[in-house]
Amino acid sequence: MNALKRKIIDVIRAKGPISVADYMRLALIDPEHGYYMSRNPLGRDFTTAPEVSQIFGELIGLFFVQVWEDRGSPSRFHFVELGPGRGTLMADMLRAAAKVRPEFVAAAKITLVEVSPFLRGTQAETLSSVAVKWVSRFDEVPNDLPLFLIGNEIFDALPIRQFVKSEIGWHERMVTAQGDNLAFSSSPDIFQPRSHAVNFGAPSGSVLEISEFAGPIISDISRRFERFDGVALIIDYGYAKTALGDTLQALKGGAYVDPLAEPGEADLTAHVDFEALTRAAQGTIKGPVSQAEFLERLGIRVRAELLKRKNPAQAAQIDLDVSRLIDADEMGILFKTVALCEARGQPTLPGFDD
Ligand code: SAH
Repeated sequence: MNALKRKIIDVIRAKGPISVADYMRLALIDPEHGYYMSRNPLGRDFTTAPEVSQIFGELIGLFFVQVWEDRGSPSRFHFVELGPGRGTLMADMLRAAAKVRPEFVAAAKITLVEVSPFLRGTQAETLSSVAVKWVSRFDEVPNDLPLFLIGNEIFDALPIRQFVKSEIGWHERMVTAQGDNLAFSSSPDIFQPRSHAVNFGAPSGSVLEISEFAGPIISDISRRFERFDGVALIIDYGYAKTALGDTLQALKGGAYVDPLAEPGEADLTAHVDFEALTRAAQGTIKGPVSQAEFLERLGIRVRAELLKRKNPAQAAQIDLDVSRLIDADEMGILFKTVALCEARGQPTLPGFDD
């Protein structure tokens, strides 16, 4: 049995079953054995858009240059990335931005929100030519400057609670110990979810998921735009509208595995409920729009042609990578983006049509 499973079983024996959220938090970011804490999972267990193609980060870098200029090119601002992985997206954004507006890069005070010491090390190597600061939580970033923020595939890693409907109501799904194994169980308590259309008449056995952390982060980000200008872009996979269903999944080596089998050795994620994110935001929120629509509006096809012209030997690979990002049966539709920004003036944002 792996050390983290031992630790979780000991916790359960001492204190009783733990929530799915507590299980996810331990599996992903337990300081000693958490999945993200001592390894680089990117490219091995799963691959993200910035790791598929440099075009992804370049287009988003140009998006930020545009929205920064639209807000009067502030001479100092926080440029924040949530959960930066290997640092590839930040590096691609900065490279593209520096080509068109070096002033943007000079004005950016870069902060990476990263819990993993191991990935901080990788990010430091990728971004060795720029000054970067790390924090573990977004609320450690001071609210003293305009804010431009990106989070790609981070909200799916934030712990969710799950509730299962029985004949008499909703019960929290728990993780318990059975001998040397972990298993799902159900709390006897009845939980009253926030009133929402999907909850009414949900048949017995339905699963409802609630992210504990997404709402407060979104609310904190959006409140900052009451004082300072800025734009936050959140990209992830999930539902445009709140829906029922068990989306907790574990990926190891690119294959789905049992989420309880080997805590700390597989990536654990859940679909993002974009409607819930929208509810948590104050001020202006745009989207969700699909990743395909967003990247097409930012000019992914033109940029792919330019890259192919420069690297003719890679043309076929570039086409494949672009398809992966925008095709409907790949990342194009499942992945979505929302943007938060200040309410003043209601500026239009590139990639969002209103
Ligand atoms: N955005 C990157 C990586 C996504 S993987 C990309 O697109 O390639 C998720 C990232 O979020 C990793 O860097 C992981 O260490 C970090 N992370 C996971 N849980 C976190 C948490 N609770 N707080 C801060 N960072 C977290």
